[in-house]
Amino acid sequence: MFDIRKDFNCCKTVSCKNFGVENSEDYVYQSKRLGYLSIECKACGSNPPWINNQLIENILKEKLDFHFARKITHCRHCYSHFFFNEKNRSQLHGFTVAGTQRLKCKNCQHVYSETKHKNVEAITQVLQTIIDKLDINSAIRKTGLSARLYYFYLEKLSLLLTNFSRLKEQEEINRDSLSLQTEGKVVHLNHKRGFYTLLTAEADSGYILLQTTNLTKVELLEQDIYNSTENTVIKDAFANNIESEIKNHYQQTLHRKHFEKLLIGELKAINHCNLIYPNKLVYVHFSLLRGFIKKAQHYSHYIELESSIRAAALMSAHPEIKAGKADIFYYLPFLNNQEIIKNRKVGWWSDRWHSFDKGAYSLLTDNKQNQYPFKMTDTEQLNRYYDYLDTHLNKSLNSFNTITNLSEIHRVLFNFCYAQDDKSTAMQFGVANHIYDEMSLLSEAMTYKEYTGE
Ligand SMILES: [Zn+2]
Ligand SMILES: [Zn+2]
Repeated sequence: MFDIRKDFNCCKTVSCKNFGVENSEDYVYQSKRLGYLSIECKACGSNPPWINNQLIENILKEKLDFHFARKITHCRHCYSHFFFNEKNRSQLHGFTVAGTQRLKCKNCQHVYSETKHKNVEAITQVLQTIIDKLDINSAIRKTGLSARLYYFYLEKLSLLLTNFSRLKEQEEINRDSLSLQTEGKVVHLNHKRGFYTLLTAEADSGYILLQTTNLTKVELLEQDIYNSTENTVIKDAFANNIESEIKNHYQQTLHRKHFEKLLIGELKAINHCNLIYPNKLVYVHFSLLRGFIKKAQHYSHYIELESSIRAAALMSAHPEIKAGKADIFYYLPFLNNQEIIKNRKVGWWSDRWHSFDKGAYSLLTDNKQNQYPFKMTDTEQLNRYYDYLDTHLNKSLNSFNTITNLSEIHRVLFNFCYAQDDKSTAMQFGVANHIYDEMSLLSEAMTYKEYTGE
């Protein structure tokens, strides 16, 4: 059902004959030649770090169920996840005793009823506490709900908004060509808590399609739990020209124990969950993005200059890259770029860089007849959402459920309610024709239906 890669231990050098190939004779599995566990490709001499495939699969399942599960509408037997399953057809099938519309799935004959949302008042109150940026304790007090009920309605709210946004996105995503943009960020909370988050937007509009975090409830081995105090996040060097800036970024990568060793400094544990290493989350995140690109004839992916993101982006899009249907670009924003560089080899990997007015980019895939050149007009879109999240997410949060639900709620609120130059990203993306206020978004989300019959 899910067209998602399972084995990430293979060569990741695009120009190598083993690129993306599973079980090549040229591989040395679990090699320690360079002092860390890796898979060695003898054909190109590369040693990408060893990936625990089972770990990725377990986390993927958890994130898939949270970000894409169909919990409100449709036949759950045939259509468990947005984007990853074909939509089921249904026919009207009378009413329940309570007067709710029943539907019968044409595929499996399963009868189900439309969800009726009860206690609208409570859900509305919870939303108001989020708009007011209250900390959880004050929020619970303000609503007069018990803690248990507050969390219950918070989850309902998150589910409702996610469902609404996924329905809308689904209508819009069937494009022939699609451009995505991805960056990773660290979100800091009080008491040295925090998490790593990967953000992906549709690149033309800045509409945030997916925001995953490295928080997990999946049981982990000690070695897989993030516990580093080291910080290897690539920092801007503020060099005087774009080429030095690119070089500096590569140099910082070379100082790592291995290129994909992305560490995010000391982060204290959050209740009821663990943090995984960012370079594991990237494989999960990019696997989930396959849901969006599945139907595109061509897609471009713009990613930040970060080796671990590069590896995951290349692996996830491997079939499309091979078929010449996907182009992956690095980009590096550079304020007031004055210089022009063209096809300049920079860094240990000899990536070829080109300048544009907002920085520079490099095509990582090897597409000779590239009909879809680099076309990025706004490099600040993900920063804008990150800044929004940083100011709207209450810093005293300390549990898996609140952080993940609130992150998802904010993704939707940002897309539909937040205006930049009189337009929301949802309007730019084509899923809204006006800027919503939060309450009208909620009431539309509660009643929004897609046409499911014939
Ligand atoms: Zn190779
Ligand atoms: Zn069904």
